[in-house]
Amino acid sequence: MKTQKKSSEIKTEREMKSLQLEEEIAKEQINFANEEIARLEKVIETKQGLIEGQKSSIAAAESKTEEIKSEVDKVLTDINNERQKVFVKKDKLISDMNQKGLSFYQKIRRWAKNTTAVAVIDQACYGCFLTINDKTYADVIKGEEITTCPHCGRILYIDNEEEVTA
Ligand SMILES: [Zn+2]
Repeated sequence: MKTQKKSSEIKTEREMKSLQLEEEIAKEQINFANEEIARLEKVIETKQGLIEGQKSSIAAAESKTEEIKSEVDKVLTDINNERQKVFVKKDKLISDMNQKGLSFYQKIRRWAKNTTAVAVIDQACYGCFLTINDKTYADVIKGEEITTCPHCGRILYIDNEEEVTA
């Protein structure tokens, strides 16, 4: 509209032509700008598609991470529960063992006094000085259980500094 109004005021043909040329150029520039807009819109669309794709990849990775985390948590909980059970068992075993060992020791101590537990030297009980049989000797060496002298009943142990032969 602005151009029309302008055209009516033009006096010479030359000025008219010059305006028409300007109008052509302006139209061309508008066309070019529109094409550029269309091109950029396509680019935006493509990029948005890529972003959507990335977003869904991230979401998938996040849910996988959550899944793994909850699996690990579950395993850790199980391990802790098992550990707790083992602790309780261990405490009970220790207290049972100590009770048994203590009362056993005290029973012998009533008569054996300071020689309740004696060393075995040259396969002989160092309480009664009698030779002990091979099986008892082997048991003392193994040291898995409390072994007593078959002759006097004292608790036997191997004094590692005295006895190194087996
Ligand atoms: Zn003995």
